[in-house]
Amino acid sequence: MKLTFLGTGAADWTEEDWNQSEGFFRYLTSALVDDDLLIDCGPTVFSAAEKYGVSLGGVRYVLSTHLHRDHYHAPTLSALAEKQGVRYCSTKENASAPVIPSNVETISLPLYEKVQVGDYTITATPASHLVRSDYPNQAAHYVIEKAGQTIFWGCDGCWLSCEAWNYLRYLHFDAAIFDATFNDDEGRQELFEHNSIYMVEQLVKIWRSGNVLSENGLVIANHIAKNVNYSHEVLLSRLTPQNIMVAYDGMTVVVPHTVD
Ligand SMILES: [Zn+2]
Ligand SMILES: [Zn+2]
Repeated sequence: MKLTFLGTGAADWTEEDWNQSEGFFRYLTSALVDDDLLIDCGPTVFSAAEKYGVSLGGVRYVLSTHLHRDHYHAPTLSALAEKQGVRYCSTKENASAPVIPSNVETISLPLYEKVQVGDYTITATPASHLVRSDYPNQAAHYVIEKAGQTIFWGCDGCWLSCEAWNYLRYLHFDAAIFDATFNDDEGRQELFEHNSIYMVEQLVKIWRSGNVLSENGLVIANHIAKNVNYSHEVLLSRLTPQNIMVAYDGMTVVVPHTVD
């Protein structure tokens, strides 16, 4: 599978950042898997596709992690559905949420159930992440399988519940993309919703030591905050020696095949 990162930022990146003519910035987190599966449809997806010359014309499915405004933007979904019949795929709660436009067909992904979505087999696992709203919803991480490869997409959400880990620990991933929102400032209450860099480092050590992820499996830190995380350069110097990639907008990676 190929991953194209259309945005790698958390919700504190703003219009002001995106409008600057030079300098480093991150659009809101979204990625394209091969050319047909879009992970999250936030408000910066079209701008990012234009800036990085990525065609969204092949997108048939939007795989939606949760309904926070940086990941879900109804007009973006609606435009993709109207133009090319894109289907919205998410947990059963999200797929029936009132914010999903009525012109959009949905595919429900009940937790821990493998569901065929085009050429992909997708399993939702629960994320420790809360969208406060007046309707039921469920944030999810995803196990995405295709052509003998397996990817874990874990944005947004902190750590993993025991229950999710007991499901995931028996799988083998060729790549894992982790929420890496925060730096290591201590005492942050939001660590119940997002990972810090230290937490990512520990998760990766556990996954590798249990061979949930091979040593040469790809690990990517993603969903990086502007104001409460380190600069891209600092993240690179800290994580690269641990064989953890730091996502940046426009980054494309082809996931290697790994062995158990
Ligand atoms: Zn987010
Ligand atoms: Zn979120």
